[in-house]
Amino acid sequence: MRIAIPAETDPAESRVAATPETVKKFIGLGAEVAVETGAGERSGVADAAYEKAGAVIAPDAASAVSGADIVLRVQRPTSSEIRGAKPGAAVIAIMDPYEYVSELQALASEGVCAFAMELMPRITRAQVMDVLSSQANIAGYRAIIEAAAAYERVIPMMTTAAGSVPPAKIFIMGVGVAGLQAIATARRTGGVVTATDVRPATKEQVLSLGAKFIAVEDEEFKQAETAAGYAKEMSSEYQEKQRALTASHISKQDIVVTTALIPGRPAPVLITADMVASMRPGSIIVDLAAERGGNCELTQPGETVTSENGVKIIGSVNGAGRAPATASELYAKNLFAFAETLIDKETHTLAIKWDDELVKATLLTKDGALPHPRFQAAS
Ligand code: NAD
Repeated sequence: MRIAIPAETDPAESRVAATPETVKKFIGLGAEVAVETGAGERSGVADAAYEKAGAVIAPDAASAVSGADIVLRVQRPTSSEIRGAKPGAAVIAIMDPYEYVSELQALASEGVCAFAMELMPRITRAQVMDVLSSQANIAGYRAIIEAAAAYERVIPMMTTAAGSVPPAKIFIMGVGVAGLQAIATARRTGGVVTATDVRPATKEQVLSLGAKFIAVEDEEFKQAETAAGYAKEMSSEYQEKQRALTASHISKQDIVVTTALIPGRPAPVLITADMVASMRPGSIIVDLAAERGGNCELTQPGETVTSENGVKIIGSVNGAGRAPATASELYAKNLFAFAETLIDKETHTLAIKWDDELVKATLLTKDGALPHPRFQAAS
């Protein structure tokens, strides 16, 4: 059984899908591992480290992928990038299937089984495979680090002989995995931290991290969590009340980190241009929802925009990739945990269990078709 780790082709992608640690584990399962030269470079992993772990270094992507039973990637490969893999090979990555739905058929036509890691069910058994959580944790941490770097003042309170400096006020909007890590990191920097969410369960989590919870806690708020633990899209009445609360709070904030998302929907706009105009010059907004349309009206994905009144709005894209070594370590572990379930330990071959709920939830392409219920219409 051959496992291939081609280098990422997006120049903005700094992560890698396997580390020497996971390469060793795959070899322990009887696999032969081929890593494309330079694949780990941007995550601080040299070819020599993979070789030491037992991998073969391939001179290019095509020779790494050739004859592979399993191909591991961070971002979705194009159909030509997996050409040469065995028929029925498992291709495992963050596939972004909603964004690239028109390209799924091309992947299917290559005869591979493409698995989307971000569709992994959030059940206890699959926690170790949850790439959304592992990467969101890092993105939340990095959002505070980037805000601190862009902020032209200090964050903690300082009492010096030359006078005192008040602590920065930091507001986190959206308290999922990224938001919780942003709160914890913001607290460590010495800021005065407040946070908001529409899911009531988050209140206790915010308080337990030593931050203050701010939200419109009406009847709708009490019902805002779906059975799956996600936020619902709120009514226009609720959004109006939320805007009024945000407007009065945000004008006093120095740093705002936004992370609010609703599955399958564009990100809710929580910060209007008028709210930005009410903030002090030099304030910072880091928008982690930038790729899904942004939580701030002025956000531009991948760019830092300065508003007329001097507020910097950072449209964060691939936040986890800003700490690529840690992000890759965790991502590679997530991938190993899933790939291991596709391997027969006795015969050392790829043996996908088609009835496994994890396979059913993540499998996008098989035998030239699109078996996933959410994407069948695209075939
Ligand atoms: P997410 O990335 O989908 O959304 C981020 C946050 O934005 C959520 O907390 C959401 O409630 C919030 N939000 C949405 N609309 C909002 C609005 N209008 N105003 C303010 N906030 C808004 O969330 P996530 O990080 O993926 O986490 C979602 C849930 O899944 C959480 O309950 C989390 O604890 C849970 N979870 C479970 C597991 C597991 O059991 N394996 C793993 C990870 C996360």
